[in-house]
Amino acid sequence: MTFEDLKIIPPLLKALEEKNYKEPTAIQEKAIPVVLNQRDILGSAQTGTGKTAAFALPIIQLLHTTDTQEKGRIKIKSLIVTPTRELAIQIDDNIALYAKHTRLRHAVIFGGVKQGAQVNELKRGVDILVATPGRLLDLINQGFITLQHVKIFVLDEADRMLDMGFIHDIKKLLKLLPTKRQSLFFSATMPASIVELSSKILTDPVKIEV
Ligand code: AMP
Repeated sequence: MTFEDLKIIPPLLKALEEKNYKEPTAIQEKAIPVVLNQRDILGSAQTGTGKTAAFALPIIQLLHTTDTQEKGRIKIKSLIVTPTRELAIQIDDNIALYAKHTRLRHAVIFGGVKQGAQVNELKRGVDILVATPGRLLDLINQGFITLQHVKIFVLDEADRMLDMGFIHDIKKLLKLLPTKRQSLFFSATMPASIVELSSKILTDPVKIEV
């Protein structure tokens, strides 16, 4: 199986070639067609499996293909929420590489640092935002971010998110997201609490395990 077989488009294929990815990993093979079909995913996968590209590549592709038809690009169209600053930076770095031959803009926000630089970046316009929950809610409350135009929502490492006590933040975010959206939910483990949370977020999800 190749990325071409998965219907990945040329600007992304070029980036993958430059990154020297020869073929998709198992989760990429399973998840990419599902995301491109605009279905929800309940995915159990660890970090290290190629999970990031499994959601980032098809998100970039979906947004890139609709981009030319839409005006007002400065609205956040995909929101990726992850528990830690390190993961957030890693995901954003990957998006930078995969999206480098598109015009899509991306940014990362996380707590523990001054907000000024992050706010300036948001003001320049962002298509794909990677965020940790606390700083995200903080900047929403200050009016720097609206989630009204989000089409694709990703909750990454959901089990760690709950372990770190982010459940209330996630519930607040859910109230601010459009109900009509695509959602991708990833967790390394699937205890009952995670399955219950996923059922509040997902609509008729495709289950993927690697
Ligand atoms: P992740 O599970 O998303 O943290 O990815 C783990 C590592 O695998 C990262 O360093 C990625 O750059 C790399 N990676 C992801 N997909 C592929 C692929 N198809 N071929 C080679 N390396 C990959």
